[in-house]
Amino acid sequence: MPDSYLNRLIDSPFEPFVYFVDPARRVYWMFLVSAVLLGVFVYRLSNQSGGLIAYLWPRRVWLHRSAVVDYQLLFAKSVVSALLFAPVLLTSSLVAAVVVALLHTAAPREAWGAPWWAIAWPFSFCAFVAEDLCRYIVHRAMHRFPALWELHKVHHSAEVLTPFTLYRIHPIESFLNASASALAVGVVTGCFFYLYAGKLVGLQILGVDAAGFLFGFLGANLRHTHVWLSYGPRIERWLISPAQHQCHHSLSERHQNKNYGSVLALWDRWGKSLYIPDGKEELTFGLRSGERNHEQGLLSALFRPIGAAGRAVFRRGSVS
Ligand SMILES: [Zn+2]
Ligand SMILES: [Zn+2]
Repeated sequence: MPDSYLNRLIDSPFEPFVYFVDPARRVYWMFLVSAVLLGVFVYRLSNQSGGLIAYLWPRRVWLHRSAVVDYQLLFAKSVVSALLFAPVLLTSSLVAAVVVALLHTAAPREAWGAPWWAIAWPFSFCAFVAEDLCRYIVHRAMHRFPALWELHKVHHSAEVLTPFTLYRIHPIESFLNASASALAVGVVTGCFFYLYAGKLVGLQILGVDAAGFLFGFLGANLRHTHVWLSYGPRIERWLISPAQHQCHHSLSERHQNKNYGSVLALWDRWGKSLYIPDGKEELTFGLRSGERNHEQGLLSALFRPIGAAGRAVFRRGSVS
């Protein structure tokens, strides 16, 4: 057993604490601070009756049984991922190497020489768009295919939303998401390596990709909260707002199968799944009656969706 695997496994229960100081993570402290500031802005604009603290940190939300499962899954998923998935996780550099080799085999060519700063813009843009599209496709597939939906129910069984609901995702879904992102970024990286010689770096802020940093800084954490931050109908045709993602979690019929996108709203617009709210809406989050496949508890959320997904595959097989 390699030392690096063992070390990663030993560190994994403590890894989520590092998320707060890692700019590559959604719950990086600066993103949380910016979310609070945006929350204060929404509080002031919406003339809430109670105090600010009660509005932003209501005990009925942050100490709800559903939120506790979010916190538990944050740590458990870190351990499960290190134990089972880290050794087999697809990496973007591996995908890029395969893409470069395939392209050179199919059409050998001399790469163009270009300064890194001239390539950084188109490379960052293409990688961001490809990854965002991939996330949309995976998320839509999670709702479309019965076995995947059984796994994705873990995210949608949240009855209250906190920034940590982002991590309330079944480990198998996390693995699929990470693999899809590695595939998207790897293909783009491989194509750029094939076209251009020399150093290939994306635009970065604090060492992480610039688009992800801006997304985090501009209130991405409010997507999983009760704070209604809408960008307005014009912008929401292009960018998914926190309010739009909250609608994705809503039980209302009009919100079903809408707003799969992460950052760009284009994919939902083209896929006829975009929902643009017309003003503030009262939402109830969770799964519809009869859809729940696990209890509001850690072990149940980890294991029972796997059984349900297996049964969904079997049912499908027996029908066809
Ligand atoms: Zn979903
Ligand atoms: Zn969500």
